[in-house]
Amino acid sequence: MDLLDESIVPEHARAVKREAREFAEEHIVPVAEEYYESGEYPRDVLEAGMDAGLVAQDISEEYGGKGYDLQQILAISEEFYRADAGIALTLQLASFGCEIMEHYGSEEQKETWLRPVAENEQISGLAVSEPQTGSDMAGMETTAEKTDDGYVLNGEKYWVGNAVEADWLTVYAKTGDSDDRYSNYSMFIVPTDTPGYEAEHIPEKMGMRASKQGHIVFDDCEIPEENLIGTEGGGFYMLADFFNHGRIVVGGHSLGLAASAIEEAWSFVHDRQAFGRNVSEFQAVQHILADMRMEFEAARALNWRAAEKVANNEDAGFWAATAKTKSTEMAVDVAERGMQLHGGRSVLDENKISRVYRDVRIPVIYEGANEIQRNLIYRQGGL
Ligand SMILES: Cc1cc2nc3c(=O)[nH]c(=O)nc-3n(C[C@H](O)[C@H](O)[C@H](O)COP(=O)(O)OP(=O)(O)OC[C@H]3O[C@@H](n4cnc5c(N)ncnc54)[C@H](O)[C@@H]3O)c2cc1C
Repeated sequence: MDLLDESIVPEHARAVKREAREFAEEHIVPVAEEYYESGEYPRDVLEAGMDAGLVAQDISEEYGGKGYDLQQILAISEEFYRADAGIALTLQLASFGCEIMEHYGSEEQKETWLRPVAENEQISGLAVSEPQTGSDMAGMETTAEKTDDGYVLNGEKYWVGNAVEADWLTVYAKTGDSDDRYSNYSMFIVPTDTPGYEAEHIPEKMGMRASKQGHIVFDDCEIPEENLIGTEGGGFYMLADFFNHGRIVVGGHSLGLAASAIEEAWSFVHDRQAFGRNVSEFQAVQHILADMRMEFEAARALNWRAAEKVANNEDAGFWAATAKTKSTEMAVDVAERGMQLHGGRSVLDENKISRVYRDVRIPVIYEGANEIQRNLIYRQGGL
């Protein structure tokens, strides 16, 4: 049986799902271990993904992309992350943050900034988190001070995907100091070659090593007024809306990872002997595999239901947080069980389960730690 069975995927997203699987098998799987070990940026895979028309295509046709919708991006995510999460993250980060401009930016901004990303001439990124603050989006300290000609940014950002590699970023910065702490933030376009922008890679990670994050320092970084996205003070709300989409996709990261853990565990126990028989013949082992499968199917059904809800903007915050939390925690659990079923071989780097085990730790944190998701689920799921 195919764990990432397409019958749950809406019909319009199935063709791209097949393309993503074919691409992943040909271009990601063969080099995944090598990139994990080296921790290098997988530029050749990124370029192959661009040639295959699978990178940055969430940008609409009007600005040079294919306009893939949330369900199409989720379908691609499941396939890419099943192959390798580090490379998958690099492929998906190439247009990170663009959605915000597509929704709130001016025509001129979209023409200038979205088109080169959609046409794969540039890559973007989104800078929100800071060294001292991640979960509290209304507690960020980077400032954008208004001047006669535009804004001057000062402060630091941390964890930013492509901070070093990107051509420009969507940056979240403080523009006000009112009592309503949610109205104090705005979004800006910041080209990474602007004087006063400095970025370096953060230390090596234990998982998703083929994706690169950076630490940015803004030191009197001046940007023109036309680089403000939407209205001043609207940044927090733009981000909240963006995260509803992002969290559905992050659920897909974990569904892909969990599918891989189940496949690895299944094939290992069917191939390994103990006490004179195949390990898969022990009923206790079969029950573990049955539990892994049930949890996977439950999370996947929820994630796809939530995708439809978010796409239709029906209680989007609740459904996005629910799907993200369930899928990411299911993957942690499934990977843990998959490790146990591999015995001592679980800890050998050459076995994919060890890579999956490390990678599943990341989606429970990014796009908002799961404690924050539970706050949202309670607050937005009131009866
Ligand atoms: C691989 C990776 C890629 C990333 N990419 C990006 C990116 O491209 N751009 C970007 O801006 N950011 C990015 N991030 C940052 C990510 O969004 C943050 O790590 C995340 O939001 C959590 O923030 P923090 O790490 O500062 O944790 P903190 O906010 O310091 O929280 C630490 C822990 O405290 C607990 N906690 C915090 N607040 C609460 C609360 N209210 N209730 C209960 N418990 C709480 C939680 O257990 C939480 O995990 C990335 C992170 C990783 C790991």
